[in-house]
Amino acid sequence: MTEEMYGKGIVKGLGVTLKRFWDTYWDDAVWLFRRVTKGEKRYHSPEGIAHRSGKDSRGIFTIQYPEEKLPSPEEFRFLPFLVYDEDENGVKTLRCTSCGICAKVCPPQCIWIVRTTDPATGRPVPDPLEFYIDVDMCMNCGLCAEYCPFDSIKMDHAYELASFGRQVLDKAALSKSATYYESVRPLNAARENAARAAKEASRAVLQKTE
Ligand code: SF4
Ligand code: SF4
Repeated sequence: MTEEMYGKGIVKGLGVTLKRFWDTYWDDAVWLFRRVTKGEKRYHSPEGIAHRSGKDSRGIFTIQYPEEKLPSPEEFRFLPFLVYDEDENGVKTLRCTSCGICAKVCPPQCIWIVRTTDPATGRPVPDPLEFYIDVDMCMNCGLCAEYCPFDSIKMDHAYELASFGRQVLDKAALSKSATYYESVRPLNAARENAARAAKEASRAVLQKTE
């Protein structure tokens, strides 16, 4: 005999709804108490946002967007950006080698790259002359970042980019510092930096033994 035959499923569902209803108003009551006793506010306050984005939040709640925003989790992804490193003299170098792998794997084919060519030899230089992403076509899949062998293209958290026109971002608009990348994806950046350092160390050892 299934639960449905006795209508137990309906009762269970109503129970879940009732719990949700109770949790919603209970949370309101708790925050009223916190406001009176500790002066803590549920809305437009760091403690309120921390509570609503944490594991202890219960029931149904509102985020007063755009005045309030929930912090994005590290793995949240919106649009890709190009990472550059900056040396002590302020010289910025894009990590991108214009290998074209990201453009090849991009499902909607919204990445366009123009390689730099050495005018003297006519040979390609590992540096993009132009780099465009049609962000209106981008489906935010993150495959470009997954496949890039040089940690040059990463998925951004910035999501407020609505506009009335078509948006094709060029190299300048797409470029962001490695420091920015570390600030939005600290665990990923630390893991990749450690892997790069280990690779360089083993290369140095190999060169010594040659
Ligand atoms: S972003 Fe990465 S995958 Fe794309 S062209 Fe540059 S180096 Fe290659
Ligand atoms: S996130 Fe996906 S759709 Fe967007 S540019 Fe990268 S590969 Fe293409």
